[in-house]
Amino acid sequence: MEKKDYRPMWKDLGLNLEGHDQLLAVLGNAYKDIYMSQENRPKAMQYLDFVISEAHGLRIEELMEEKRKGNKVIGTFCVYVPEELISAVGGTCVGLCAGAEIGIDEAEKVLPRNTCALIKSFMGFKLAGLCPYIQASDLVVGETTCDGKKKAYEILNDYKETYVMEIPQMKTERDRALWKGEVLQFKERVEEIAGRKVTPENLRQGIKIVNEKRRALQRLSQIRRAAPPPISGLDALLVNQISFYDNPLRFTRNIHTLCDELEERVRNGMGVAKNGTPRILVSGSPMALPNWKIPYVVETSGAIVVAEESCVGERSTRDLVQEDGKSLDKMIDAIVDRYMKIDCACFTPNEERIEHILDLARDSKADGVIHYSIQFCTPYSVESYKVEKTLQQKNIPVLKIESDYGMEDVGQLKTRVEAFLEMVKG
Ligand code: SF4
Repeated sequence: MEKKDYRPMWKDLGLNLEGHDQLLAVLGNAYKDIYMSQENRPKAMQYLDFVISEAHGLRIEELMEEKRKGNKVIGTFCVYVPEELISAVGGTCVGLCAGAEIGIDEAEKVLPRNTCALIKSFMGFKLAGLCPYIQASDLVVGETTCDGKKKAYEILNDYKETYVMEIPQMKTERDRALWKGEVLQFKERVEEIAGRKVTPENLRQGIKIVNEKRRALQRLSQIRRAAPPPISGLDALLVNQISFYDNPLRFTRNIHTLCDELEERVRNGMGVAKNGTPRILVSGSPMALPNWKIPYVVETSGAIVVAEESCVGERSTRDLVQEDGKSLDKMIDAIVDRYMKIDCACFTPNEERIEHILDLARDSKADGVIHYSIQFCTPYSVESYKVEKTLQQKNIPVLKIESDYGMEDVGQLKTRVEAFLEMVKG
């Protein structure tokens, strides 16, 4: 089937057409090399392949159609933004492009060179005119998770209106009160943008939609605990990445179809790696689409990734919002409590995260943990010391990696990962 020409839509959105064509060509090739070269992929991954191939096409067309109907699109960069409130007013929450080394020259005109690749990436995507999601967004929502993002949003606001939520840094009652104030203020902003009120009925529905999406992802993460695992870490990461872009109802349905197939594989003892292949838990900074570097390195070095302790992974799917709130206030409280449980490294102290890593290493039967920090990501890099120390005390092998989005260090990373895997096997 011939592909539809989306260029008129991209032009209307103000994209840099030439640069965007180049970006799609590079991404298409990377996807072919990294994803399509895998063997024995589940059939249901075809849905994800399709979504990826239409991420800048059909999905944007759907969002534009929603906008024509008067529904709003809200772009986000972080799992702290309560999607339930956006869904309640008929809006769509989309994760914004931040996982590729794009528009670096433009980004470095406004940001210091030594900045986290994720921050440089979202700035680069916007300044180079290459992200249709930010162009389609009626509002961009940032948050104060780290100093780099917090200050970068002030600059991004010069190019696209950016609303910033204040994330507390501790988990006392005072911090919860601050966070509740932030959630209520965000609710007002969302109502203002959408021209609709959040009501107990529509919020109940919003909570349900987002919980169902998380339940499907939780099911996937349970199935990956099987030995041998029926799906690669690369494919599972892709599912988590796409959860930030796709229509939530359709996504949930398709992930259950994938899980049905994976359960069948488990029943038949069929896996994507032989029994005895080292199982790796990857923990740390988020891997935004299309950052596939670490699972690619691990899975082309003779191991398999069985879980991600990350915002694009367990950190965003582990907890649900309680669904039994009878009044709007009770539902807001349930949202506040659920989001306060997120164990981002921006919190201090953050012992829960270390407990969660230990639990996940045990439950996913990981033979070793790779702690990944994006270079210049101070919260995760500094916290890696405590993570490493605790894992070593429990005799769980751990390797710390710092990297950016460039591919120059892949050879060197492979050497380190292979040496680590020898130790894990030994
Ligand atoms: S990866 Fe680290 S430095 Fe980058 S935005 Fe996230 S918390 Fe901030």
